[in-house]
Amino acid sequence: GSIWEDVPMAKPDAILGIAKEYQQCTNPRKVNVCVGAYRDENGKPWVLPSVRQAERILWEDETQTKEYLPIDGDREFVQCAMRFAYGPDVPLEHLAGVQTLSGTGACRVGGTFLAAFWPNHPIYCPNPTWGNHITIFKECGLDVRRYRYYDRANNGLDLSGMLRDLQKAPRGSIILLHACAHNPTGCDPTIHEWKQIISMIGQRDHVAFFDCAYQGFASGDAEADAAPFRYAVSQRVPIVLAQSFAKNFGLYGERCGSLSVVCGDAEQKERILSELRLVIRPMYSSPPRHGSSIVKTILKDEQLTKQYYEECASMARRIQRMRTKLVECLSTMSKHDWSHIKRQIGMFAFTGLTPDMCHQLTNEYYIFLTTNGRISIAGLNDSNVEYVANAIHAVTD
Ligand code: PMP
Repeated sequence: GSIWEDVPMAKPDAILGIAKEYQQCTNPRKVNVCVGAYRDENGKPWVLPSVRQAERILWEDETQTKEYLPIDGDREFVQCAMRFAYGPDVPLEHLAGVQTLSGTGACRVGGTFLAAFWPNHPIYCPNPTWGNHITIFKECGLDVRRYRYYDRANNGLDLSGMLRDLQKAPRGSIILLHACAHNPTGCDPTIHEWKQIISMIGQRDHVAFFDCAYQGFASGDAEADAAPFRYAVSQRVPIVLAQSFAKNFGLYGERCGSLSVVCGDAEQKERILSELRLVIRPMYSSPPRHGSSIVKTILKDEQLTKQYYEECASMARRIQRMRTKLVECLSTMSKHDWSHIKRQIGMFAFTGLTPDMCHQLTNEYYIFLTTNGRISIAGLNDSNVEYVANAIHAVTD
């Protein structure tokens, strides 16, 4: 025997389990609309040309080393990331920013910091939300609660339910907000609705924890996508921001992100930074350097930045075109209303398909999706969008 006899088999991860089934499927018609990763017109992963160019520059620069980064990451990268997120108006001396292991690591570092330095305050997540949010913040030791977000009956934002729940939450609660391209619903508040949400958060002395995993990916314009948290900063609502460079720079596996806290002054910033370093040191010591070197190389160079913005916009445009095409195909055959899919934004369509319909799509049509009815639009292209629309029609007719 072994001492590990009693270790049970863990449940497979909902999303990564389906991705594995897709890989094992041998049917040539198979479609992967499960994982939220960009695919080009041929269904292939895309490395942005600006990223390739940055890698070339780094490769040729013989002063580059493989030395450890500091605990809180590459200073220049963090400054570029802060500018990218907050724009030119927020002084860098007021931003306690650290490099993190992509958006997941940012949520984990931010949650652990809040559990220690904003204790006894629950965190409220939207219902529904990215599944990992719940697990991450529980692991941080936070009391995780939910606020109403999506109205399934009307396929839109439940603004009044959301505002009521934010009002009822104990004063000083942490409110997790998806900065843009809400995952899984694709349903974002309008800027007018954001103003009401942020005003309520301010009135109740809550802390706004923005998870920004898709800046630039929603509208195609990174500046426009940052509007909700830039507005919150302008209203002096306390902000914690988790940034991921996985989707917008296509750096998924490079694990590049940042976590920042907006501080009152430079002295406060130094104290918060010192505590963030203390969170990170025993967790993973220091972050990887390749992804952050790429982002820094792009954002420090005016020409490469311009090129990057265009490439990011082209991903958003292709997704938008597929979104439109899917709805157009469906409306030629289906008696149901699919217009909510057109109103949604970002990587995903939240179709409203039941778990049974999702299983049928996978078992009979080899279309792999999560059973909450979420489709990653990035997995669609001109060769498969009609096939997917036909299959959706068949299981909903
Ligand atoms: N937050 C949200 C809302 C997400 O959708 C994702 C990616 N699925 C993440 C955070 C984190 O992703 P990553 O750790 O790869 O940056």
